[in-house]
Amino acid sequence: METDVLIIGCGPAGLQAAIHASRKKVRTVVVGKTINSAMHGTEIENYLGAVDDGDSILSNAVEQARSFGAEFLEQNVISARSENGSFVFGVDDGTEITAKAVIIATGISRKKLGIPGEKELFGKGVSYCAICDCNFYKGRRAVLVGNESEAAVSAAMMTSYASETSWVAWDLTANDVVVQKAKDAGVTMYSSRPVAIEGEGKVQSLRLEDGTVIPTDGVFIELGAKSAMDIALDIGVMPQVDSTIKVDAECRTEVPGVFACGDVTGKPWQVAKAVGQGCVAGLNAADFVNGN
Ligand SMILES: Cc1cc2nc3c(=O)[nH]c(=O)nc-3n(C[C@H](O)[C@H](O)[C@H](O)COP(=O)(O)OP(=O)(O)OC[C@H]3O[C@@H](n4cnc5c(N)ncnc54)[C@H](O)[C@@H]3O)c2cc1C
Repeated sequence: METDVLIIGCGPAGLQAAIHASRKKVRTVVVGKTINSAMHGTEIENYLGAVDDGDSILSNAVEQARSFGAEFLEQNVISARSENGSFVFGVDDGTEITAKAVIIATGISRKKLGIPGEKELFGKGVSYCAICDCNFYKGRRAVLVGNESEAAVSAAMMTSYASETSWVAWDLTANDVVVQKAKDAGVTMYSSRPVAIEGEGKVQSLRLEDGTVIPTDGVFIELGAKSAMDIALDIGVMPQVDSTIKVDAECRTEVPGVFACGDVTGKPWQVAKAVGQGCVAGLNAADFVNGN
């Protein structure tokens, strides 16, 4: 599939960007799921003129963007690369999308496992970004945790670094193709829920519900979609140390054609700011495509 503007994220930032880009008559595709927006399940009281539940605002915005021609793919981006001046993204069902401009509107969520040891050993072997930290695991053992395609992709990638790579998935929803790639790369699979990350001052093992204990030096938690930081790095944008993406007043990143908006660019984490930046990013991405 080819598009002018690809928007990654279906929260208020991505949806506002979709409305403004599509109204400028450039082909606009939005990838993401409203149920994964931080706004899902909330009551919004401080957004101009709208005191409403977050889900109603999101579903109205999807219809509004669609009415201007925006197209929607309810998928997660699981791979990203730059190629011949364009940006190419892979999604869960295997579709590849080539875009002239991209808007990263992925929010800030990092799903947690919520098990003992996760918080205590964060930064001491517990990581939420395989692509950021894989280099530290050269010749060491690593366990990937997650049910979605992203965990499979990360596990396969990790085999190029770690001496042993395991993957724990207890409710597998990953695409068959990426699961097979992980297996072919030599990843050992476990299918029981993690219950504790263990170690004294550093990660030493991961304990599963069925009693299995996997000795490891690192636990990589990949519970959802490919993180904004991974996507940014893959297309040449260096994330900030606080895991945000730096943009200028036009929502441009350091890479021409790559824009970002919403929570992913930093605080305040508010709908009003997400929508404001979404407008700017959508207009500027469309102008970029049109050579303005
Ligand atoms: C409990 C709660 C209450 C809140 N209350 C308020 C409030 O009252 N007022 C207020 O202004 N703000 C409130 N907020 C904050 C507000 O919801 C966020 O600031 C806002 O949703 C940010 O919008 P966003 O579009 O940047 O990110 P999000 O809304 O988080 O959307 C991110 C999108 O990116 C998608 N995505 C991520 N990774 C990928 C990928 N790899 N591939 C495809 N898609 C991807 C997700 O599926 C999602 O659609 C609240 C937040 C929470 C959690």
